[in-house]
Amino acid sequence: MSRVRFNPMLGEWIIVTKERASRPFQEQDHKCPFCPGQPETQGNWDVLTLDNKFPALSPDFPPFPLDSSIIMDGPAYGASKVIVYSRDHNEQFEDMDDKQIQLVLQEYLRVFRELDKLKGIAYVLEFENRGQAVGVSLDHAHGQVIAIPFIPPRIERELAQSRKLWESESTCIVCKAVENEFKSGSPRIIKQTKHFMSLVPFYARLPYEVHIYPRKHVASLIELEDHLLELGQIIRDTVKRYAEFFEENAYVMAFHTRPSVGEHPYWHFHIEFYPIWRDRKTRKYLGGIETGGWTYMNDSTPEESAKELREVV
Ligand SMILES: [Zn+2]
Ligand SMILES: [Zn+2]
Ligand SMILES: [Zn+2]
Repeated sequence: MSRVRFNPMLGEWIIVTKERASRPFQEQDHKCPFCPGQPETQGNWDVLTLDNKFPALSPDFPPFPLDSSIIMDGPAYGASKVIVYSRDHNEQFEDMDDKQIQLVLQEYLRVFRELDKLKGIAYVLEFENRGQAVGVSLDHAHGQVIAIPFIPPRIERELAQSRKLWESESTCIVCKAVENEFKSGSPRIIKQTKHFMSLVPFYARLPYEVHIYPRKHVASLIELEDHLLELGQIIRDTVKRYAEFFEENAYVMAFHTRPSVGEHPYWHFHIEFYPIWRDRKTRKYLGGIETGGWTYMNDSTPEESAKELREVV
């Protein structure tokens, strides 16, 4: 049974999940479990959400209070789902037409709504792992959603920073960044649409890290319901640039939404892309300074990377 454990040195929870080690790394017998006609993929569908067969977190475990001053270890209560993007095994984000893009984003919203309401859930993290170079076990394009009983540390840090600026200057950190970039006609902007902007942030940790910011101050996909197609289009634009630029398209995309518990008026929903390359084909490894100190050395300037990504399409 997977468990969560508290690391008192870092003040954060980890998930211990030995069962997942036995999951298949590639399709077995050349049968893709996400292609239509498999046991779990019968019937008519365009986008399909399945329970993760190798869940790190499960709603079958009993929820328990994650008060780290009392309990340091407990069953990994939560949920873990997979969103299969398309019936077509080879259709990736960059290949989709508007209709499919909209269906995929609508499904991300629907699953978010469902898990956001689950009792005992503190955070719903939606993400996509893409490419064998990031260890993706199945090629068929899919996203993942995990509902976690605690707020992940990266989100905690962003929350704390957002709250600080909100309290001291009554501004939102992302609204401020969007305004500054927009006003200055920044060299870091990749694309602007009516409601969104994609850019390599001033503070990017990775050479080709791209963030997508809604121009309106919204906290989750729920408030973006009317703009899901446009959001999907700017995601597709980003992924297309990566597909053109890198020899292998390999990245992690994460939706940074507000937590499922508490009030966070200062939170600004956004999407972050972390490609694993330092240039077109050389892998970026996290070395001693990154892993040992959590200090990132960016091998390129965000301005130069944004220029390369702008010019590739
Ligand atoms: Zn498939
Ligand atoms: Zn904002
Ligand atoms: Zn973020």
